[in-house]
Amino acid sequence: MSDYRIETKCVQSGYTPGNGEPRQIPIIQSTTFKYATGEDMGRLFDLEAAGYFYSRLQNPTCDYVAAKICDLEGGTAAMLTASGQAANFYAVFNIATCGDHVVASSSIYGGTYNLFAVTMKKMGVEFTFVSPDCTGEELDAAFRPNTKAVFGETIANPALTVLDIEKFAKAAHAHGVPLIVDNTFATPVNCRPFEWGADIVTHSTTKYMDGHGAAVGGCVVDSGRFDWMAHADKFPGLTTPDDSYHGITYAEKFGQGGAFITKATAQLMRDFGSTPAPQSAFLLNMGLESLHVRVARHCENAQTVAEYLEKHEKIAWVNYAGLESSPYHALARKYMPGGTCGVVSFGVRGGREAASRFMAALKIAAIETHVADARTCCLHPASTTHRQMNDEELAAAGVPGDLIRLSCGLESKDDLIADIEQALAAI
Ligand SMILES: *Cc1c(COP(=O)(O)O)cnc(C)c1O
Repeated sequence: MSDYRIETKCVQSGYTPGNGEPRQIPIIQSTTFKYATGEDMGRLFDLEAAGYFYSRLQNPTCDYVAAKICDLEGGTAAMLTASGQAANFYAVFNIATCGDHVVASSSIYGGTYNLFAVTMKKMGVEFTFVSPDCTGEELDAAFRPNTKAVFGETIANPALTVLDIEKFAKAAHAHGVPLIVDNTFATPVNCRPFEWGADIVTHSTTKYMDGHGAAVGGCVVDSGRFDWMAHADKFPGLTTPDDSYHGITYAEKFGQGGAFITKATAQLMRDFGSTPAPQSAFLLNMGLESLHVRVARHCENAQTVAEYLEKHEKIAWVNYAGLESSPYHALARKYMPGGTCGVVSFGVRGGREAASRFMAALKIAAIETHVADARTCCLHPASTTHRQMNDEELAAAGVPGDLIRLSCGLESKDDLIADIEQALAAI
C-alpha cells in the first residue's frame, strides 16, 4: 500500500483478503493458536519462525490494524497496545531502563508526564524536561552521557504547543539517540513525523484514530531509520544477546527495520501484557477507515470556531495554531499545512465564574474529560480536574482559571457557533 495516498491507506491498508475470505477484518477472538507438533511451536518461541501462539503477545486482528497505522506513518513495523499510556511506556522503556536518562518536552500530556516523572522515575529512569520552545543550545545542554531518547508531542495535549520536530531530531541524532514523537493530536493525516526526522512514533488511538469515544488504545511505530548498531554501546538491549530468547540479538536478527518492535513485542508484551482485545482493534479500524474525512472536518470546525472566538468581545484570548495570531502558526504551517487538530483553548472574560456559567449554558458541547471525539465536548479545568487549586496555583500550572478546552466534533459548524453564541450571551 505504500505507494497510495493517505486517504487510500486509511481505507485499504493493513488487511488484504484472499479469494473468498471476509471483506472486513476478522475478529480473531482466541487467546491461543493450535500447532501440529511441539517443534512447530518451539520455532515460534525461539523467534525462528513468525506466527501466533498466545494473544498476550500478538493477535492477527491487532496486527492487521497495526499494519495499517504503520503504513499511514510510513514506518517499517508497529504494535498495538491497550492504551496510549502503554504505548508511550513501551516506546521509552524498550530503550531506556534503570540508570538511563531521557530528555522530554515539558508541555506533554499530564498522564505521560506522571508516567515519566513519577512512575518511571521509581523504575530508575530519569527525565529532564525542556520547553518545546527552547533554543538548540538549551536542548543540547539537557543531554547526559546516559541519555537514551528524546520525547515530544507533535501538538501537545492540552497546551496545544507545536513541536519543532526537525530541531528536536537534530539534537537527538547529534547525541546518538532516537526521537520519539507522540503524534496523537495531529494524526498521520496532518503530520508524519518520520518525514521530519523522528525515529519512533506513538499514538493514543483513543483520540482521533478511534474518533468515536468507543475504545481505549495505543500504537507504537518504528521508522526503521535509527541505526542501533552504530550506537551499540548505548542500546545493549537491542545490540547484545537476549538470554530470554536463547541469545538472539534483535538488531542483527531482525535488522534496523524490525528490531525495535520485535523486542517490544517479544519482551515487553510477554512480560507486561497490555495487548488490546481483538474487538477493540476492530473498532479502531472502523475509525481509521474514515480518519482522513473526519480529521479534515474536525480542523475546519475548529478553525471556524477559533476565528469566531478571537473576534468576540467576551473572549479574552484564543490558543489555536491555525490562527495567524498563534506563536505556533509558522511551525504549524511547516509541519501541518493541511490543518492541525480540532481542539481549541480560550479564556472567557470574567475568569473562573464566567467560564463556569458559559459551560453550563452550552447545549451541544458536553462537559467531558475526553477530546478528539465525533461529538463536541469541553472542559473547564478550574472547576473540574483542577478545582482544588486557587487562581495563583492555576496560573503556575499553566492552566489559567478562565481556560476552556473545546474539542470541536463533526457537527455543523453553524450549529456549534450558534451554541457558543447563546452561551456567551448568557454571561
Ligand atoms: C490521551 C493521550 C495519551 C494517553 O492515552 P490513553 O489512550 O488515554 O492511555 C497520551 N498522549 C496524548 C497526546 C494523549 O492525548
